[in-house]
Amino acid sequence: MPGFELFGDKERDEVNDVLNSGVLMRYGFDGKRNGHWKAKELEQALAKRMKVNHAQLVSSGTAALTVAMASAGVGAGDEVILPTFTFVASFEAVLALGAVPILVDIDDTLTLEPKAVEKAITSKTKVIMPVHMCGSMANLRALKDLCDKHNLLLLEDACQAIGGTYEGKPLGSYGDLGCFSFDYVKTITCGEGGALITNDDAYYKNADHYSDHGHDHIGSDRGAEDHPFLGYNYRISELHAAVGVAQLKKLDTFLGIQEKNYNILKKELSTIPEITFRTVPENGVENYSFISFFLPTEDQARKVHASLSKAGVDACFYWYDNNWHYHRKWAHLKHLKTLSFLPSKVYDQLPNYDKADFSKSDHWMGRTISCLIKLGWTKDEVHQRAETMAKTIRENL
Ligand SMILES: *Cc1c(COP(=O)(O)O)cnc(C)c1O
Repeated sequence: MPGFELFGDKERDEVNDVLNSGVLMRYGFDGKRNGHWKAKELEQALAKRMKVNHAQLVSSGTAALTVAMASAGVGAGDEVILPTFTFVASFEAVLALGAVPILVDIDDTLTLEPKAVEKAITSKTKVIMPVHMCGSMANLRALKDLCDKHNLLLLEDACQAIGGTYEGKPLGSYGDLGCFSFDYVKTITCGEGGALITNDDAYYKNADHYSDHGHDHIGSDRGAEDHPFLGYNYRISELHAAVGVAQLKKLDTFLGIQEKNYNILKKELSTIPEITFRTVPENGVENYSFISFFLPTEDQARKVHASLSKAGVDACFYWYDNNWHYHRKWAHLKHLKTLSFLPSKVYDQLPNYDKADFSKSDHWMGRTISCLIKLGWTKDEVHQRAETMAKTIRENL
């Protein structure tokens, strides 16, 4: 998945444009910048690639989620439904707004199970946030129907799935708002950075203001700009955006390499009748950044994971025991241990997660192994890897 694997002259040229002018900020300094507006250029290119009206760059994927929700008016006491399998950032972004994260079970798509989502909806629910973990998506049609029925926002955390599609639409563009991360290990990278996309003019305008201290960005004199409301600093720098300009141009090449490598691994692993693959919903196309599969038992999954690593098959994850991506090891989040103040509403409304039954999620995650698809493998290396993986799995069944 990582864009840093194929990084070089193109990125350097874009960054040098910025270094040569010395204008490292995305706003203002019009006369000095030699016509370079890398952040704006990347926003326009991203909106075009994702077939949406608007893209707003920010400093990270976590910032994108926070700004996306703020731009749609999500705040104190609002409940946001998200899956038990995600990255801690999605949970953190909800709390950053004083809103209440409600964890909900996943199914064999490894993302939100629509039936469990429906059960979790209350009068305080404002957002359904599917997280397209490891490159593939939830049954977005079912989630969209729930949103329409209950008047909720559909916010896609597409940080790990840029380039995938659902019903022919780029992931991130299907819901009301979609978010991407361009951190160092994502499919394309800016070093640090993120973006939100939307077709909604008001959300976009709010996001544009909120991510820069509420500046309205009208006119060319930053000092004279108005501030319709408060905001924060979630700006991306020109240097980071410059890297992204070069990386986005390579996205389709990266996706092609990932798909090819994925298919070689999948073909080999498909010869093992005991393993099954993560379900990709009908009309969905993943971005092939990971290959995820289920072993028959938790015990076998643990053994296979350990053996793969011993056999030199790197970058395979057993998320069930991981403390960043699965709810089991999230005591600090579930008990809201924080250095700062959270509205008392959050404490009052947070479910008692210690008593929550996530056995459905455990049923899938306990048996899941996901392996990263890399861009830099030679043909021989992928075939060798496929053989070693299949052999190792067989030995542990
Ligand atoms: C990486 C990631 C984020 C956060 O992105 P950052 O740019 O690292 O802040 C959010 N959600 C998911 C699913 C991610 O993988």
